[in-house]
Amino acid sequence: MMRAAFLHGQLDVRLEQRAAPQIERPDEVIIAVAYTGICGSELHAIEGYALSKRTGDGPTPAPLGHEYAGVVSAVGSAVETIRVGQRVTVAPRGPCHQCDLCRNGGSALCRKTTQRGGSWADFIAAPQKLVHPLPDNAPLAIGAITEPLSASVRILDRAGLRSGMNVCVIGAGPIGLFAAVLAKQGGAANVIVSDLRPARRALARRMGIPVVVDPQADELYTVVMDHTLGRGVEVSIEAVGLEPALSQAIQVVAVGGTVVWGGVAPMGMTVPISPNDMFMREYTLRTSWGGIELFERTIRLLSVIDWSPTVEERFPLEQVAQAVAYARTEAAGKVLLQVAGG
Ligand SMILES: [Zn+2]
Ligand SMILES: [Zn+2]
Repeated sequence: MMRAAFLHGQLDVRLEQRAAPQIERPDEVIIAVAYTGICGSELHAIEGYALSKRTGDGPTPAPLGHEYAGVVSAVGSAVETIRVGQRVTVAPRGPCHQCDLCRNGGSALCRKTTQRGGSWADFIAAPQKLVHPLPDNAPLAIGAITEPLSASVRILDRAGLRSGMNVCVIGAGPIGLFAAVLAKQGGAANVIVSDLRPARRALARRMGIPVVVDPQADELYTVVMDHTLGRGVEVSIEAVGLEPALSQAIQVVAVGGTVVWGGVAPMGMTVPISPNDMFMREYTLRTSWGGIELFERTIRLLSVIDWSPTVEERFPLEQVAQAVAYARTEAAGKVLLQVAGG
């Protein structure tokens, strides 16, 4: 038996005793979870919001958790690249390699991906192809941020960041903060981060972001223009998924610059865009859907940047309900559940 958290209904998360997963297919790996993150998408599901046609109305009780790292406890007979005792992280889904998107170079956008949730538990099973070894110098708690970090890597890929560019990131939740840090490490000249929450601004400062803005105290547009000779930023990243952040991301972009919307907006939400302004400034507007295909590059970044300040908020799995309640507060950054000793 093992402990596992399930969503029973709106704001109703329960830790239960379930049978631990066993090897059922030859390519399967069983992982003893060490740390597992609470993702914004899970909070939305817990709060009852629908973010896609496939979530929010699924059967309950539903298993929770898709960001995690742990130690391999068993492997199927056909598993060759992963061994028992290895420290690993796992992509929550992977391309099917069979659909028209996958066969046409678009596997990063595969809609037929295998979704594997249920990491808020002592053990989880995953197919070998989604299991990635962690480097020796990457602690398991930091391994658990691989999935959200991969989303930030994808945002910067989509932004086409080049050295010397000015960057603005609106929203310093994990995805936005990671994107800002990657931009700074990737040669951006100026990185400006904006967030309403004081705790997130403080964390952004600790992570070395040079310009951190409270948009209620200072107008973001003015701050950006002050730092860019009145031109705006070449790369403008939105990592909230709500107004006014989505519109601000467009306002602060320079002529010819690129806006990347990386936040997940609620279904049905619309944003006014001026085609004339878009034409005159010829900015590019892109979205970024997540980095499931980028785990190899993302894992290399785990140990070259000190991410430790971003994984300090930890609750034992036993306190999953308190952890969720805390993660929904203004004070929370990235919240991890500690499952095993790590
Ligand atoms: Zn996530
Ligand atoms: Zn596919």
